Amino acid sequence: MKYCIDPVSEVILPIVDSDSVFPVRRVYCVGRNYAAHAREMGDDPSRDLPFFFCKDRHCILPVTFEGVAELPYPLATEQLEYEVELVVALGKGGKQLSVEQASECVLGYSVGLDMTRRDLQAQAKAKGRPWEAGKAFADSAPLSPIVLRQQDLLQSGRVALSVNGEMKQESDLTHLTWSIAEVIAKLSEQFELFPGDLIMTGTPENVGPVVVGDRIEASVAGVGVIRLQVVE
Ligand code: MN
Repeated sequence: MKYCIDPVSEVILPIVDSDSVFPVRRVYCVGRNYAAHAREMGDDPSRDLPFFFCKDRHCILPVTFEGVAELPYPLATEQLEYEVELVVALGKGGKQLSVEQASECVLGYSVGLDMTRRDLQAQAKAKGRPWEAGKAFADSAPLSPIVLRQQDLLQSGRVALSVNGEMKQESDLTHLTWSIAEVIAKLSEQFELFPGDLIMTGTPENVGPVVVGDRIEASVAGVGVIRLQVVE
């Protein structure tokens, strides 16, 4: 067999303290999973079923825990916004999983940013159009290395993001509307999940914009801290 063009390369994330790497399959994202963020986006924060959208795995910008990564300001927007999120990496999959089965699928975690072209997302929402323009663009998913899980899944821990040293987002995993295992179980009712899938579990409140030159620091307690600078 001969490819007519070069095939797209694998997308991999390193695993902390491991020689192995994590090959990414699909990147799922949860829409509203913190009540206070649902409110700020004009939604009812009641425990509606979670909803999902996807980013392409080639949207991932792998970021290390050391140094400051460069985050290129994307095309076609004047409102690039951050959303800090706990990301879950699946080592097992399945469909129609129970919460207990879903829990067993989690291999590890990553600190992620669901970068959003908010102006394009707002246009899509207003017209009932798909979200890809707002969500699934190049470098829209800066992700840290995978940190392997401890025995129990994370249930609490500070989730925070600062810009130029000023705290912008600060919450705790205890405020997740749907827990990690519940999110996986619900997602598996709609999609068969596979090893290599990533799930961005939603952002807390106080999302906001960045401009070229801004420095972002994002953290999830028990996972780590990543630092980025927005560049042209
Ligand atoms: Mn998000």
